[in-house]
Amino acid sequence: MATSSSPSLKEFINKKRQPIETIKKKVEEQKTDKQAAKPTTEPSTKPDAETTTEPASRTRPITLSPSTISLFLDCPRCFWLAKNKDIKRPSGPFPSLPNGMDRVLKEHFNKHRKDNTSPEELDGRFQGRLFKDIEKLKTWQNNFRGLRYTDPESGVTLMGAIDDLFVTADNKHAPLDFKTRGYPRKDNTHEYYQHQMDLYSFLLEKNSLQPAEFAILIFYHPTGVNPSHHVVFNPDPVRVPVNRQRAEQIFLDAVKCLLSPDPPEPSQGCEWCDWKENK
Ligand code: SF4
Repeated sequence: MATSSSPSLKEFINKKRQPIETIKKKVEEQKTDKQAAKPTTEPSTKPDAETTTEPASRTRPITLSPSTISLFLDCPRCFWLAKNKDIKRPSGPFPSLPNGMDRVLKEHFNKHRKDNTSPEELDGRFQGRLFKDIEKLKTWQNNFRGLRYTDPESGVTLMGAIDDLFVTADNKHAPLDFKTRGYPRKDNTHEYYQHQMDLYSFLLEKNSLQPAEFAILIFYHPTGVNPSHHVVFNPDPVRVPVNRQRAEQIFLDAVKCLLSPDPPEPSQGCEWCDWKENK
């Protein structure tokens, strides 16, 4: 209960409330203090780890592969974010069947290489032989080594791991790649791998191997089960013309995108970037 000596409610509120002039004065004082605290020298150019868009290429070597270049062709922004910010697209579990097929097919081709014979898949369709030097081939097949080329201007490396290498009768080199599918290929299926084949041929040339004007894709799809209960795969080899100038241009375009300080615009109509903007 209030006594006669206690301040009235109105007096109490007035006492607590700061006059607007007092608040304004305090704000002005704080501004002046902040300005006084600013350094007199130029601000540090060291980037802010949270907000910088400084490409990672400036601090560590960068390696691109046909699959990252494929990402660049699909969406330059996703590519930039993946390589510079380590922000990757979500991905599900990867089926192990294609890897298992690659492994047994490489063994199958190695046996022919050793015996100096031609795999049935290629017989009569391509004039030439398999590349003989197994040690070199093992390096070029290795996903951590592969065929490499470093752009002298940017220092960015292109790396591609081939499945095998075919040498034509006139001693030119054609990359050979195995593709496992559930169904027979369509007429244009090989076009999905055009850039990959172009890049492999470009890498062969940069590694002092005379390149052929084509690559070989062998598609395998299951056709049935034989009496021994083995699943039978049908091989379907396709000759794919290659363009090394196009490969080099795409590689250099990807490098340019990568070294740009800002990410490219999102791809039009991509619902994921729209979602991020609007969430
Ligand atoms: S537009 Fe789509 S694909 Fe490109 S960065 Fe955004 S989410 Fe990735």
